Amino acid sequence: MGKLFDIGLQQLTGPAPGDRAGVDAPAPNSARGTFFLETFGCQMNDHDSEKVAGVLLSRGYRQVESAEAASLILYNTCSIREKAAQKVFSRLGEYREKQKDGKIIGVLGCVAQQEGEDIFERAPWVSLVCGSASYRKLPQMLAELEAGNHRVTGLDTDTDETFETEMTRRDNPWRAYLTIIEGCDKACSYCVVPFTRGPERSRSSDSILREVRQLSDLGYSEVQLLGQTVNSYSDPTSRRMSFSELLLAVADVPGIRRVRFTTSHPSDFEKDIVEAIESQPKLCDHVHLPVQSGSSKVLRAMQRTYSREEYLEKVGMIRGAKRPIALTTDIIVGFPGETEADFEETLSLLEEVQYDSLFSFKYSPRPNTPSLSMTDSIPEEEKSRRLALLQDKQREIQRARNSSLVGETFEVLVSGKSRRENQWAGYTTSHRVVNFASQAQELLGTYVQVRVTDATPNSLLGEHAV
Ligand code: SF4
Repeated sequence: MGKLFDIGLQQLTGPAPGDRAGVDAPAPNSARGTFFLETFGCQMNDHDSEKVAGVLLSRGYRQVESAEAASLILYNTCSIREKAAQKVFSRLGEYREKQKDGKIIGVLGCVAQQEGEDIFERAPWVSLVCGSASYRKLPQMLAELEAGNHRVTGLDTDTDETFETEMTRRDNPWRAYLTIIEGCDKACSYCVVPFTRGPERSRSSDSILREVRQLSDLGYSEVQLLGQTVNSYSDPTSRRMSFSELLLAVADVPGIRRVRFTTSHPSDFEKDIVEAIESQPKLCDHVHLPVQSGSSKVLRAMQRTYSREEYLEKVGMIRGAKRPIALTTDIIVGFPGETEADFEETLSLLEEVQYDSLFSFKYSPRPNTPSLSMTDSIPEEEKSRRLALLQDKQREIQRARNSSLVGETFEVLVSGKSRRENQWAGYTTSHRVVNFASQAQELLGTYVQVRVTDATPNSLLGEHAV
């Protein structure tokens, strides 16, 4: 659900931006209408919505908190979950009546790309269908909608540009997401991203660094660089900055205290990234390195481009760093052809790597993916059994790893306040959640030292060390 955060438009944008798509933009205060933007899915989708909101705000729209109050309703969809398209159509059904009140309804994101113009057939009350690879044309598409066009589409994926905006309306006042690479050139057999988000396009290092400086001026102290394969970054400018050089340059921007990046692909993860983390404390002690399976045979079927042994070499680089770096991953259980022995290899990988956290999923086929043609051979109950075993094992690993931190003191960026008095929450640089007690009056957005007094598998408990 889109959250409202009241950051002044002028503060973010300065003068009204010109429209690069060739459509005249209005002065920012000539309110054109109101919009409601609902978002589902990953961080990339969250951040796309922040940029879409920025485009709308800069055209004079005002964001509202309910579909009822909006003249434009946008639904930013995700196809990572099973039956995503079905869920989208059922939600669009709820919006059907609203169109009769003259509201304009649009579908954005992966399901828009996946279903394309069929959406107009199944939900004729929808006026805009736009995949994420076409967001850079949004101003043009909005102008067409404003001119009364009832069927506007943006479904190209062969773009060589990234979606950059003059302004982005960010949800979090301390941590800013920043997409540095869009799309994906890998071809994992289960994944719809190359189809929905198109080929890889990297943003220029100049433009990234310019935005980081602006973010710092606005008071953001943590930036998270995003990409489906963030470490495949390839600077299109003559500077040809490598990903690790870019990380260091971002960390050098005055006012920036923490730099994160996600998601890294193991095949492109090299020693220079670990060396950059070692040399610059502002680069967070955390790498998210999805493995997906512990079996080389299953990895081959998934077209992941590395074996278990090659993955473990990358883990060795990270675990061998001069300071501890937390390691997290993603795992799919029940991929077509995964035997009990293959699954046991995934469990043994957990034992060997000792991940600090993981996201785990049961395999389910997605439209427009190569694995759709494979027989989904593992029964649903068996997938559930494997998932439960995997999660139990990981819970015990996390319990032990977190417990080993009791007595230590960490810097925490305070990002939440509990309803319980004097209770706060935040993140360590290793991205652990810490709930802690403090008598201080106002800590939100500040960095404090917290001594860990207790641990659960999913979080640390502590007290403010002053
Ligand atoms: S690397 Fe594989 S899983 Fe990740 S976005 Fe690309 S195709 Fe999908």
